[in-house]
Parts: sequence; C-alpha cells; structure tokens
Amino acid sequence: MNNNLAIEPLKDWSGLSVHPFVIAGPCSVEGEDQVMNTVLEIVKHAAGKVQMIRAGIWKPRTRPNSFEGVGEIGLPWLKNAALAAGLPVCVEVANPEHVEAALKNEIDVLWIGARTTVSPFAVQEIADSLKGVDIPVLIKNPINPDLDLWVGALERFNQVGLRKLGVIHRGFSSYQKSIYRNQPMWEIPIELRRRYPQVPILVDPSHMGGSRDLIYNLAQQGMDMGFDGLMIESHIQPDKAWSDAKQQVTPERLAEILQALVVRQPNVSSNGLQPLYDLRARIDRIDDYIIELLGERMGISEEIGSLKKENSLAIHQSERWAQIVKRALAKGKTGGLTEEFILKLCQQVHNESIRHQGKVMEK
Ligand code: PEP
Ligand code: MN
Repeated sequence: MNNNLAIEPLKDWSGLSVHPFVIAGPCSVEGEDQVMNTVLEIVKHAAGKVQMIRAGIWKPRTRPNSFEGVGEIGLPWLKNAALAAGLPVCVEVANPEHVEAALKNEIDVLWIGARTTVSPFAVQEIADSLKGVDIPVLIKNPINPDLDLWVGALERFNQVGLRKLGVIHRGFSSYQKSIYRNQPMWEIPIELRRRYPQVPILVDPSHMGGSRDLIYNLAQQGMDMGFDGLMIESHIQPDKAWSDAKQQVTPERLAEILQALVVRQPNVSSNGLQPLYDLRARIDRIDDYIIELLGERMGISEEIGSLKKENSLAIHQSERWAQIVKRALAKGKTGGLTEEFILKLCQQVHNESIRHQGKVMEK
C-alpha cells in the first residue's frame, strides 16, 4: 500500500490551529432571512467555537418531489450571511455547473456529498472542473462502506493538483434497522487515518445520527477517536426545516453541545508518561501472544484439513461450527465480552481457518 496523497494540513489551509475545527449551519438554504438569522444566531451563541458555515443549495434527495434546494439564487444569501458572521462558508457541489456557480459567488470551500462520492464519473467531472483552481474540498464518505472508493475520490482531486483536501465521516447506509440513520463504523475512518495520517478527518454526527438526541454522543465519539473536527447541522427553527428536520439543532443547543464536548489531546506518544508506556507494553505482549496462538491454531487446522481430505469430509462442518460459537460465547461472557464481538471474532478466525484447510485440500 503506497501513501501517494499530497495533502496540506488543515491548519495550513484554514489558517487556524483550533481543535476541533467546527463547521455548522442549516441542512439547506430555504430563504434569505432563514439563512441570515440562523448564521447570526450561531455566531451569537457559539462565537469562537464555530470556524465555518455550511448549507446546501442543491439537495440530493432519496425520493423525487422532496425539497431539492433553492438553487443558485441562494448562493449570494449564503455568502452574505457568512460575511455578516465573519466566517468562511462551504457548499455541496455535485457537478461542474454547481462548481461554476459556487466559484462565481466566492464560496470558500466545497464539499462532495455521500451520494456523489460513490460515483467515480461524477467525482472525476467535478475534479476536472477544478483544475487550476486553488480551493479546499472536503469529501464525505461514500454511502457504502468502501474505503478505496473514498480514497479514490481524494486521489482524483489530488491528481488535478488540489492539495487542500479533507474528508467528512458521515456514516454508512445499511438495510438493517438501527438507531442510527447511517452506521458509524468507526473502523473505516480509523483505517483511513492509519493508511493516510495526513488527511484531515471531520465527523458529521447529524447525518450519522439522523436524530438530534444522538448528536452529542456521536460528536464526543468523534473527538475520542482523535479526529480533527465536526460538521453539525443547525437551523433557527429545526422542526420547521424543509430538509432533515429531525436531526437539526437550534444554534443555542449547538453551542451547548460544543461547550460540553470533552476534547483531549490526539496522538500522545507514551514517552514521558510511564504508566501509559507500561500499559501499552502489556497490550503489545498480549497482542503478540494472540497472534502466535492464532498461527498455531491455523497449523492444527491444516492437519485437520489433511484428515478431512483423506476421509472425504467437507471443510465446513456446520455442527462443529455451531459448537465452536456456543463455547466461545459462553467463554466470552465470563470475560465481559459482548456476543456481537465474539461472533465477529469467531467468524474471522473461522474464515482464515477455512482458507488454510482449502489450501491443504487443493494439494
Ligand atoms: C448534507 O450535508 O446536507 C448532506 C446531504 O449530507 P450527505 O451527503 O452526508 O448525505
Ligand atoms: Mn442534511
């Protein structure tokens, strides 16, 4: 895996070294007064805690005949509101015409919506329309949990020369019923950070939660992961919003949420903090041990594979598998581990085991 992304740190392109970097504003621009009043209330209540204004002008809606945004006419309303607040402003763009209109109206930052990031054609067209333009672009994760697709979008913008890039984690769509509108699946942005530590990551608890009650906890989780900032939807009259009413908060509530967040230092090295160093050393020893044991387990699996081959037995034995899971769940319970975790762990180990046995069977 090569880390081929040339990206400037958030603080270099924003000119601010604040943590967290917060973007707030309504889901959509609905009218000149609605956006002006919302933005002025945001700076009144959350002055110094919000660094950029957001609002949608063109809204990608799941079903037709929903409010699809006021369109280009709303760009000057949005820009003026942000100017009155003394803040830069960002807007979602989904095609080159949106880009042109946003640039004409001196929008400071562009973002790519989740429904656009999934389409390499759309992303490439937008990137091509920005060739030679020096503007920051924030890329929301694709609606499906595909890290490569997300990184691919970063690469497309990078390849036309843009270096002021970042991502927004807004969760992933799922057919399963859940309290979240979009599943957080934190392991995906965590893996993005592991592979590309230079990419700024903001978290959007509004679209993740889909409900205003969930915003504080999700924002706190984002901070606990050590990510760089937040994008939160705020509306002067949330219940009357024309889009995403359930997940928007008043500017006053936004200020309370930001005030209550516990923000700790990301990426502390354990040098100089002896107890942290000792605990990490113990974790490393346990991890080594677990990996050694797994290697040994796979060796035994291969021996079983030879026996199965000699006796014409199928690799997957459903009764045995059911027994393994049952034992592990019972054992996990005594160690305080959730069923969900034990099941996932067993499935991963089992898959690897089947792969090893398959290799033996093929011989
Ligand atoms: C939005 O930010 O209003 C939006 C449409 O978000 P997403 O692309 O994450 O669905
Ligand atoms: Mn929205």
